[in-house]
Amino acid sequence: MHMTMTDRQKELVDLAGWLGREKFAPRAADYDREGAFPFENYDDLREHGFLSLCIPQQYGGLGADYQTYMMVAAEIGRHCGATALTFNMHSCSMLWSGPLADDLEMTTEQRERHEERRAGIFKRVVEDKALFAQPFSEPNTSAAAGKAPFGTTARKTEGGWLVNGKKHFASLSGAANYYGVLCTEDREGADLDAKDTLYLAVPGDAAGFEITGTWDTLGMRATVSRSLNMQDVFVPDELQIMPRGIYYKAAITWPHMFMTLTPSYVGIAQAAYDFVVQYLRGEVKGGPPGKRRSNPTKQLFVAEMKIKLEQAEALFLRAIAEAKVNPTKEERLRAYAAQYTIMEYANDICQLAIRTCGGSTIMKALPLERLYRDSRCGALMLPWTAEICLERIGREALYEPGERDD
Ligand SMILES: Cc1cc2nc3c(=O)[nH]c(=O)nc-3n(C[C@H](O)[C@H](O)[C@H](O)COP(=O)(O)OP(=O)(O)OC[C@H]3O[C@@H](n4cnc5c(N)ncnc54)[C@H](O)[C@@H]3O)c2cc1C
Repeated sequence: MHMTMTDRQKELVDLAGWLGREKFAPRAADYDREGAFPFENYDDLREHGFLSLCIPQQYGGLGADYQTYMMVAAEIGRHCGATALTFNMHSCSMLWSGPLADDLEMTTEQRERHEERRAGIFKRVVEDKALFAQPFSEPNTSAAAGKAPFGTTARKTEGGWLVNGKKHFASLSGAANYYGVLCTEDREGADLDAKDTLYLAVPGDAAGFEITGTWDTLGMRATVSRSLNMQDVFVPDELQIMPRGIYYKAAITWPHMFMTLTPSYVGIAQAAYDFVVQYLRGEVKGGPPGKRRSNPTKQLFVAEMKIKLEQAEALFLRAIAEAKVNPTKEERLRAYAAQYTIMEYANDICQLAIRTCGGSTIMKALPLERLYRDSRCGALMLPWTAEICLERIGREALYEPGERDD
């Protein structure tokens, strides 16, 4: 991917790669086994300024745009999928209220207020090193799938909001300082409406906020994605991450915002391929002695993995280069196709990797079985699960907006 990068992007990706190789990869097995949040990795990310990666430079951040974020995150995913996936939740909270919000139409009053509020939110990250989670998913999955208003509600009160509801799959549970919750404004007696979606940062130490349930999963174990209960949790106005109704606009006009879960899986796919090449060349520490590369069947498998990896990365690079407000129909369809391909191919590549290398690689002493388990999670991520991508491509290819069959 280096070919397509600016010098600044290369610098950031190289730094992420160094952290990944030297720090994250050696710790990944333990965090996975324990199902524990990778706190040490976050200390490293903090130390190197990565918590501020997507915060514009005028607020003291590194000023990465969408594309840069996606490349850095893919490099992190190559060394620890769970770190990359949780880093997504934090970084996108900054990206969406930062450069992405700049692309969205707002009234002058909304813009001024947003400017003031995001300055305060960015300051918490730049100066206080705060960590943000992004729990959108709810037990009724229609909302996170973008097909119904969020059931979590926020009622206006003096100086802020009172939030009530439940979220599940909240990555960074217990590790985040703030939980960026999507909820619907509760307008006394009126039906909940997705246009009234609010995006609020709920402080992790607020009264009425509780983390519940366990997280003992097949893969992505170190994301610690537990459940949240919120009962009359007060969130001050200054912690409103986006103005009222702006998330709804973003979801419609800036669709690539939902592709930010893919880099973790681009990284996992690359890691599985890297592993197989090293393993068959006899270069993996802890692997069997000698080279296993002369077998033509193994060579064919390697070729198949490489082709899938190149296809996934090519689509990834093209789709992230096209990310913007109001993309064309073709660009939007390509974003769904990229998401589908990356999430499905990451798992295909990992399973091919295990078949190629054989039984020794299902041992927990080697990283491949973890990559395989982590890769299984990609296609499950709302709002763009593999099935929802297929559904959208099929429908949107055949119908223009507003068209119906009578
Ligand atoms: C490792 C991991 C980390 C996660 N972290 C976060 C996080 O930090 N924040 C967050 O908000 N969420 C997070 N999620 C949740 C994720 O985005 C989904 O919400 C979750 O996987 C849904 O699980 P479910 O059991 O409710 O399945 P369902 O949503 O019921 O999905 C099962 C199947 O039904 C399909 N489906 C579901 N709804 C629809 C629909 N409306 N239309 C068509 N098809 C549909 C899906 O495509 C899928 O194939 C995480 C998930 C995982 C696996």
